[in-house]
Amino acid sequence: MLPFKLVYSEKYFLPIGEHVFRADKYRLIRERLLQQTAADPSDFVLPAPASESDVMLVHSPHYVNKLMEGGLSAREELQMEIPYSPQVVDAFLLHTGGSILAAERALEDGICMNIGGGFHHAFPDHGEGFCMMNDIAIAIRVMQKRGRIRRAMTIDCDVHQGNGTAFIFGNSNPKPSMLPSTSAPTLGAAPASNKVPSASRDVFTMSLHQENNYPYVKPASTIDVNLPDGCGDTEYLGWLDNALSSALRQFEPELISYVAGADPFSQDQLGGLNLTIEGLKQRDELVFRAARARDVPIMTTYAGGYATHVEDTVTIHCNTVLAAAGVYRTASVERNEPA
Ligand SMILES: [Zn+2]
Repeated sequence: MLPFKLVYSEKYFLPIGEHVFRADKYRLIRERLLQQTAADPSDFVLPAPASESDVMLVHSPHYVNKLMEGGLSAREELQMEIPYSPQVVDAFLLHTGGSILAAERALEDGICMNIGGGFHHAFPDHGEGFCMMNDIAIAIRVMQKRGRIRRAMTIDCDVHQGNGTAFIFGNSNPKPSMLPSTSAPTLGAAPASNKVPSASRDVFTMSLHQENNYPYVKPASTIDVNLPDGCGDTEYLGWLDNALSSALRQFEPELISYVAGADPFSQDQLGGLNLTIEGLKQRDELVFRAARARDVPIMTTYAGGYATHVEDTVTIHCNTVLAAAGVYRTASVERNEPA
């Protein structure tokens, strides 16, 4: 049995047909975890769909109405890069409800994982890059509205920049900075709307991604780490370590939302980084250890993963569960020991 819950529903499947985004990966992850006895059925909890009013904490009523009533234009559907149907809307509402539940459980148990979600390319008034609703932002706004937290941090390790999340929380981020960036001339200036006093910042966004990749316009996160093509394990883990320390020095979140994309993998069809499966597991461990060491509750979502062989995507996502189990099992033992 795991020391935390996994949020999952068989209705996470997105009926989008033959697609590079393998929407059956969620089911395959659950099957693999059970098969390997890494998890047992009692570790899984079922989400309820997010309500329209929850979704509207982030998305415009106009956009939500279009989703509910099938009113997207052909251009809007094209931009989303997945076909629209009421069933797809229902699945996104469920993933979003899953992220809300994962946030709730993380605040109770210290950690919780949604075996789905991570749709970081969705903006308030439109969807793009396979993302219809930004479950990450919605879950944070719901926790704030319920009075559970004031401050949250997103740690986005998908190979693609978290543009929707950066945009949504941009107004609460005063002075975006770029961390390493051997070359990031396009990201110099923050949009004018980002210039608000630091006291009002309530969500700190961090994104570690391949610079030369979608999205080509990258709204500034609080910290953007723009990685060069072909970046491998050692370099990646070094930048992540730096970025995590820097972020957690600047800001004390009451909840971390970790976006554990599987697409920095060397064999990913939509990524150009060069991480190994083992390197990705070390990435997960680094993030979980940072959260655990500071006693900050952490929720995880999965986002992308488009490996040539879907089995690799499944392995990487399952390893995120194993990494968390390793860190949190050890942590709970350590906590019982005298200081
Ligand atoms: Zn991605």
